[in-house]
Amino acid sequence: MFISVAVPVPNLDLLTYAVADDVDRPAIGARVLVPLGTRVVTGIVIDHVDDPGAARDVKLVQKVLDAHAFVPAEVVGLARWTAEYYAAGVGDTIPALLPPMARGARVDAHKTQRIASITPAGLATLHSDAHLEPVEGRAVTRKQREALELLAAAPDGIPTPTLATRGIAGSAISRLVRHGYISVRSERIDRDPFGVRPQRSAAPSDAQSGGVRPQPSAASSDALNGGVRPLGGGTPTRLLTGEQQAAFDRLRALADSLAFHVALLHGVTGSGKTEIYLRLATTTRDAGRRVLMLVPEIALTPAIAALFRDAFGDRVAIQHSGLSDGERHDQWHRIRRGDVDVVVGTRSAVFTPLERIGLIVVDEEHDGSYKQEEIPRYNARDVAIVRAQRAQALIVLGSATPSIETYHHAMTGKYERVVLARRVLDRPLADVKIVDMREEYAAEGPDVILSRPLRDAIQMRLERREQSLVLLNRRGFATAVFCRQCAGTVDCPNCSVSLVVHGEGNARRARCHYCNFTARVPKTCPLCAGPYLDQQGVGTERVEAEVKALVPSARIARLDRDAIRRRGTLASLLARFRAGEIDVLVGTQMIAKGHDFPQVTLVGVVSADVGLGLADFRASERTFQLLTQVAGRAGRGDKPGEAIIQTLYPGHYSIQLACKQDYPTFYERELQFRRAMRYPPFVSLVNTVVRARAFSQAMDDAADLAQRLRDADARGDFRVLGPAPPPLGKLRGEYRAQVLVKGTNRKGIRLALQAALAGRPDVQRRAVVDIDPLSVL
Ligand code: ADP
Ligand code: ZN
Repeated sequence: MFISVAVPVPNLDLLTYAVADDVDRPAIGARVLVPLGTRVVTGIVIDHVDDPGAARDVKLVQKVLDAHAFVPAEVVGLARWTAEYYAAGVGDTIPALLPPMARGARVDAHKTQRIASITPAGLATLHSDAHLEPVEGRAVTRKQREALELLAAAPDGIPTPTLATRGIAGSAISRLVRHGYISVRSERIDRDPFGVRPQRSAAPSDAQSGGVRPQPSAASSDALNGGVRPLGGGTPTRLLTGEQQAAFDRLRALADSLAFHVALLHGVTGSGKTEIYLRLATTTRDAGRRVLMLVPEIALTPAIAALFRDAFGDRVAIQHSGLSDGERHDQWHRIRRGDVDVVVGTRSAVFTPLERIGLIVVDEEHDGSYKQEEIPRYNARDVAIVRAQRAQALIVLGSATPSIETYHHAMTGKYERVVLARRVLDRPLADVKIVDMREEYAAEGPDVILSRPLRDAIQMRLERREQSLVLLNRRGFATAVFCRQCAGTVDCPNCSVSLVVHGEGNARRARCHYCNFTARVPKTCPLCAGPYLDQQGVGTERVEAEVKALVPSARIARLDRDAIRRRGTLASLLARFRAGEIDVLVGTQMIAKGHDFPQVTLVGVVSADVGLGLADFRASERTFQLLTQVAGRAGRGDKPGEAIIQTLYPGHYSIQLACKQDYPTFYERELQFRRAMRYPPFVSLVNTVVRARAFSQAMDDAADLAQRLRDADARGDFRVLGPAPPPLGKLRGEYRAQVLVKGTNRKGIRLALQAALAGRPDVQRRAVVDIDPLSVL
């Protein structure tokens, strides 16, 4: 008796193992310990094999870890499909299939944690000790002070492992305990990602060691009602608008058919799509089936999950990579046990162990975050469609700015198309104004960052006590250091990009956004030694500083990947903004996505052109989506909104049409371009990047690959472009060369490519294949 097993080793095919005669054949989806070389690894049973065929020397499974499927067989099948379609190994999907801590035997580890809390003495010390000076003869180190500050802000205390992730070690904690500044208690916790704080049982841990877990219940919804929750949506009593009702009726009919359907819910920003998802979910649950709700960003999960919690109580789970290991573990097992009806999650939740799915929603389906940019390079939206098909479920793709591919399918009848053309309660879309920055430069000089109309608009919002969002899709303070003598830039030694300046004054650093290389900003040019170095280009940090200078009394915050490095910062920033504690929020595309902030009446875009210069065929599409989405954040409440878009290309069609929020015309324009240039949806793309230490080797290997592909294509089914150095010719110290294949037979391309790579195993190890790439940089 034989089984095929996926092991978590990159790029490996399924392996065949034998099962000893006195052992029951393990179920598909069960975990097994198998020998691999000199190691023993945890694998997942993918299939039963009758005949090991040519495989000689089949080794014996060492141990079967599960009596039943650990991963549902349905999800195993989906992982298999994903691996095949995206030219990856099944083992590459394992991290997405398993909860944390599932690769060993200790899988049901419900944890007891030590919780630290600040004492009154600690609080007093914190307030008296403003400058890290010794107090009462006791030195409080910077770390200890940080710990006290954290604890002062957390009345219920903080688990010590969380403190450890902030660099506050056990020794620092013990010292604070000895000083009497903090106390530590031991508690059993039920890691509940919904609440602002984890829900805990009050009793000491040893009193509860019977293994009965307290049910997450009233306590956690109370925490939600405490303020972080968005508007009181989700209550099934709210009346749908006529348009919503019509859309809901159509989708409901599809759901009731209990058959596979893909529907595009094309609804303008603020048209009330979420309300429709909630109702469909209720219908689905009432029919005895379950719901998977995918959102593109971790930041969007709390608000959506809270709405679902209102409707479904504790039969809702969250799955995303921002949860702690413990939370992920608990959520995964709740889902697997069948304790939940709704899973809200990001990309990898498409592999959730939820069974009997009747409805999948992919909100903001156009969003690039659904694409995993590492192996396996899957698009969760597309995997979700396959999952829905296998489950005979309805899948709803929601967006105000659908991807060109999805809209094309809707227009050609492959998908159902359901439209919400108006905002709820007939609220107007934001009034969008374009500012031609060439005129601003002429009038105000070349250094102006905020144009006159944008400055006036921000000031006016402050007077009216309304909120503003200011978008610039570029992090940092300045985007390059430039030499006025030799025109050189200070570049990353490992990547072919210039370093980005972060911070000001003494805190100034030059950093690579790809490999994180960081250096002091040089005083003289590294190329010509000249002393004339200038900063060039503007990032979000600079915009934040400009806004501060413009309105010093305003409460200003910044939201970008740098600002939210620390766990929890993102959620607290968004909560503060929602609560009206921030007047102006400056940020990257993170502020553009899906949020519903009713008090925002102004959206400013500092430069709409950031993405347009990229040598990527989706540059226009992305710019259109970003601008439409961010403009859609304004005027979602009672007061009408305004958007001001600064650009050097006021005539560009993606900017013009985004201002009019005219999706259909944009689609027609873009489709013409795609047709003429032979890009998706007219062809499939497969991008292969070969890496090497030397530029010539990367190019030679890619050339060989391209030649093999051309030779294999006797019938002329596809076009092979390259080899060529991509825009990012060097990355993390390695040179890259690209081979792009276009054709209508995606599978044919993949098979030819896999055959070509199999002929050059040395190249295969350094090649990354991207099927349906979102970006070809
Ligand atoms: P979308 O996702 O389409 O951009 P949302 O679902 O966030 O829009 O809805 C926008 C706002 O309108 C939200 O504040 C929501 O609570 C509110 N809303 C939705 N449906 C209704 C309705 N039928 N009546 C009143 N307000 C609604
Ligand atoms: Zn770099």
